[in-house]
Amino acid sequence: MSFHKKTISNWGNYPEVEAQVSHPAFEAALLRDFKDSDSLLARGNGRCYGDAALSDTVIDMTSYNKILAFDYLTGIMTCQAGTLLADVLELSVPQGFFLPVTPGTKFVSVGGAIAADVHGKNHHVDGCFSEHVLEFQLLGEEGNLLKCSRERNAELFWATVGGMGLTGIITQATFQLKPIETAYITQDCIKAKNLKEIMRLFEESKQWTYSVAWIDCLQKGSNQGRSIMMRGEHATIDELPGKHKGAPLNLRRKGKKTVPFFFPNFTLNKYTVKVFNFLYYFKQLKRTISNVVDYDTFFYPLDSILEWNRIYGKGGFIQYQMALPLASSEAGLGELLDAINRSGQGSFLAVLKLFGKNNPNAFNSFPIEGYTLALDFKVNSKLPDLVRELDSIVKKHQGRLYLAKDTMSCRDGFDYFRPFGSRKFDSCQQERLFGCSRS
Ligand SMILES: Cc1cc2nc3c(=O)[nH]c(=O)nc-3n(C[C@H](O)[C@H](O)[C@H](O)COP(=O)(O)OP(=O)(O)OC[C@H]3O[C@@H](n4cnc5c(N)ncnc54)[C@H](O)[C@@H]3O)c2cc1C
Repeated sequence: MSFHKKTISNWGNYPEVEAQVSHPAFEAALLRDFKDSDSLLARGNGRCYGDAALSDTVIDMTSYNKILAFDYLTGIMTCQAGTLLADVLELSVPQGFFLPVTPGTKFVSVGGAIAADVHGKNHHVDGCFSEHVLEFQLLGEEGNLLKCSRERNAELFWATVGGMGLTGIITQATFQLKPIETAYITQDCIKAKNLKEIMRLFEESKQWTYSVAWIDCLQKGSNQGRSIMMRGEHATIDELPGKHKGAPLNLRRKGKKTVPFFFPNFTLNKYTVKVFNFLYYFKQLKRTISNVVDYDTFFYPLDSILEWNRIYGKGGFIQYQMALPLASSEAGLGELLDAINRSGQGSFLAVLKLFGKNNPNAFNSFPIEGYTLALDFKVNSKLPDLVRELDSIVKKHQGRLYLAKDTMSCRDGFDYFRPFGSRKFDSCQQERLFGCSRS
């Protein structure tokens, strides 16, 4: 038996569960672990926030992580599902290819990116990760390895993207990378005074491939929604400053800082969040700054501080991410920000994005056309009440919630989600939200 008992949690460090965990590195070991368990869940790098990648029995895929093929001409890559996006980039960027869609951390596995059907700052242009997946192999309920694509086992393909591991274990995937000339991004950082202004900026920036905004969720009245937009494009060689022109696809490795211990509980409160937000907004003096930055700085600013999740203390934190339809986004975002303000529970990391239309085949994918806001909150006794209030605002505006971030929401925000009906695969989140009523 290759399972051992371990306490595990996801990125929010809340909740923690005791699980039987195995780490297969080869197909034979994976199949043996699969046969040894009545019910189980595949787990990637635990970068979802709440209880999605948690279960009583877990197959941790992070040792199942070999890159199997990479065509340097077409940019098509095949790798095992535990391969991290960081490893994909390490190999592909020097060859002139980048991820077609990437979340805000590169420490996510390819299996996790498919299972949550992750989105990036370019959803309005390039859709979700699944748009670029050509095929994957799934270890399904019966213990067979099934090839799934738009042509073969198509129903299973679409149920698995965004399916949160409940259809089976993704063992390997083939996907298309996008060509780039350099490892750099030309970016504009633009300050917006309030919600109206930032929404207008998103509309005006639709022709930009990437756009995202950091938003100060503690501002009120005419300052509500004060924010900074970052929009960007992959830089061409001509756009690079002279010092980078010699090696446009190679980044000099920077040292990473680590948060060495869990911060004490009192460190984060509405006053420290207010100070942080003030300094962040006013550190940029001009309304607009345009410059060239490397891809790590643009896409993965948080990855430069390892284990930053410890600043929320041992009690952990949650991330709350909702999407609202375009028509009700302005009203809904205003109500959400009002509720957060009243609660006094500020969030450092409030991120606003504009989603484009989603692929209707990808029925389990979270995005809908409109705005999405993601917020971090430290876990405390008042948080469930705030989450209930936010849930009801999302429901009122016919919005939806993201399973990869959910920790304590109610079921209503997930009405779009249709798990495929296998009882072999189960997660704590699945039990909490859908209980036994799953078909
Ligand atoms: C700092 C940060 C920023 C983020 N930014 C974004 C963002 O911009 N956009 C976005 O969409 N998400 C974002 N996320 C969320 C993250 O991309 C997703 O939660 C992703 O699924 C995590 O991948 P993982 O490998 O860590 O998987 P885990 O967290 O381990 O698992 C996530 C889900 O995938 C399933 N799963 C994992 N591997 C497999 C497999 N091999 N087969 C079947 N199912 C599997 C698990 O069962 C679970 O349901 C962010 C997370 C962090 C920490």
